[in-house]
Amino acid sequence: MSTPAKELCRLGLREAGAGVAAKAISSSELVEASLARIQATDGKLGAFLAVSADRARAAAKAADARAARGERRSELDGVPVAVKDIFVTKGVPTTAGSRILEGYLPPYDATVVERLEAAGAVIVGKLNMDEFAMGSSNENSAYRPCHNPWDLSRTPGGSSGGSAASVAAGQVHASLGTDTGGSIREPAAFCGVVGVKPTYGRVSRYGVVAFASSLDQVGPLAREVGDAALVLRTIAGHDPRDMTSSTRPVDDYLGPLEEGARGLRVGVPREWLSGGLDAGVEAAIRAALDTYRRLGATLVDVSLPHSKYGIGAYYLIAPAEASSNLARYDGVRFGLRAEGAKGLKEMYAESRERGLGAEPKRRIMLGTYALSSGYYDAYYLRAQKVRTLIRRDFDEAFRSCDVIAGPVTPSVAFRLGERTGDPLQMYLADIFTITCNLAALPGLSVPCGLEAGSGLPVGLQLVGRPFDEATLFRAARALERELGPLPAPPEP
Ligand code: GLN
Repeated sequence: MSTPAKELCRLGLREAGAGVAAKAISSSELVEASLARIQATDGKLGAFLAVSADRARAAAKAADARAARGERRSELDGVPVAVKDIFVTKGVPTTAGSRILEGYLPPYDATVVERLEAAGAVIVGKLNMDEFAMGSSNENSAYRPCHNPWDLSRTPGGSSGGSAASVAAGQVHASLGTDTGGSIREPAAFCGVVGVKPTYGRVSRYGVVAFASSLDQVGPLAREVGDAALVLRTIAGHDPRDMTSSTRPVDDYLGPLEEGARGLRVGVPREWLSGGLDAGVEAAIRAALDTYRRLGATLVDVSLPHSKYGIGAYYLIAPAEASSNLARYDGVRFGLRAEGAKGLKEMYAESRERGLGAEPKRRIMLGTYALSSGYYDAYYLRAQKVRTLIRRDFDEAFRSCDVIAGPVTPSVAFRLGERTGDPLQMYLADIFTITCNLAALPGLSVPCGLEAGSGLPVGLQLVGRPFDEATLFRAARALERELGPLPAPPEP
């Protein structure tokens, strides 16, 4: 009962849940510890955009009442978690990191929020992010930057920067993010946590602010592979309110978790390790691949020849879809409305001018251009064809391997401000993650050590066959078990 708050905050998700079930700790203690830690650290970290303390305390009380009756909704009953501010939460501000949604109080909960709460998880607040999930450093947040707990002068990555930073710093035991081109995996890698982008369609997007609808997917971040697997199992599965969600049953991710890497065929794309990678990152990736070999896996040379067109195709498709999705922010229905405009047209224009930041505006212009008559065939349609080629590369590679392994990012976390002046440089942070979204495949980032010299975390990316998240978890767990947990980052 007298465990210090800081130690409670470092417990794994399943460990904390088991503690509540055994009545060794109460959900209220866990939630108070989490709120206290947010209070103590978030001034420096900037991971949260909103903290819903009252709602969390009430939920914790209810979880404790269940525990007293010997009831348990799930393994994460009573455990504090947080969600990216892209998920709508009834009566709790939801901004998607944008001024144009400032003050918006949604009238309903996203399906994933409902599912977390139905499982007993306690949502303590909403996490910082790049505006409309456009970015790789969280610096496009209209509210405040988020800092990397390993080094406060560096970015936590983006767009789910707050989701990764809060888990790494022990503010919560797990979080949810979204990934359109790398937004879960890149920040997970930069902050030294596990992050999963599931197969397109695995998780419902009902109540998720849309960015690029053919690419967006929801996924978990946690400090342990098994914890991420538990969260995904909790939120995955068909939702009649999202017609893109799959009706395929959800696999048991935890059952095969400890099966190890023996016999696994690990594909190593030669294009991912041939230049363009910082030496320290490459060394950590190669060491992880050697570990797999030592554990009894076979390394297979595979080729993804069209992956070099990934960034180009993505920056046509994603902005095209964004230009359409963002048309709904017109000052009429949600959030900010320009007052004093003369007439409807001026009100639309003024609201968008004031409410949207530079990056969404850039994407709206790019996307509108790519979709306009005469350019549609030359750009958008071409990009869709490239997408098919990228998918075929993966299909071909998976004929000779069970999982693909490589880097998540070309470098460790870069410094805040370093790339803000050069959007192209920023876009390149996703060079290894984007193809997985274009091909609709599941991808995971698992810590594979600290870079020599900088001491910053490096993530190994694992990509699987459609709906084969179970193999990703099993492979990631084999590495995690072998390497042991990363040390905790320094106190902010
Ligand atoms: N960094 C990429 C972008 O800015 C990917 C973002 C994401 O996955 N949401 O579009």
